[in-house]
Amino acid sequence: MKEAMLYERLSDSKVRCNLCNHRCNIKDGNYGICGVRQNRDGSLFSLVYDRIVASHIDPIEKKPLFQFYPGSRAYSIATVGCNFRCKQCQNFDIAQLPMEKRGHIVGDRMSPEEIVKQGDSSGRQRGVRRG
Ligand code: SF4
Repeated sequence: MKEAMLYERLSDSKVRCNLCNHRCNIKDGNYGICGVRQNRDGSLFSLVYDRIVASHIDPIEKKPLFQFYPGSRAYSIATVGCNFRCKQCQNFDIAQLPMEKRGHIVGDRMSPEEIVKQGDSSGRQRGVRRG
């Protein structure tokens, strides 16, 4: 858990999150629409910072980066939670978990440094093209 970025404190211990266009006004103890940001005593916290639930190395063509270094691979990571409710979502189980079970955050702890290291090492092992 880490204090969130991009929010403002309001009166009566409420906060407004400005991370996405929902601009949630959140009372003390409550969550935003995404279910992964919570107001605790008038401060907003990210509940998924460093909680990685999925990591993959995929062909770049599988990502919305088609024609960006064709033939290369992409390293991607994910946490639980999402601010959309798409009915056809292929990741519905992890995307909507915090909404279905409030405050239920899963995922392995991984620091930003570890993520960069793993991505870099994955790229080298798989022959990712650079620059
Ligand atoms: S949905 Fe989540 S990220 Fe978007 S404004 Fe609300 S709390 Fe912030």
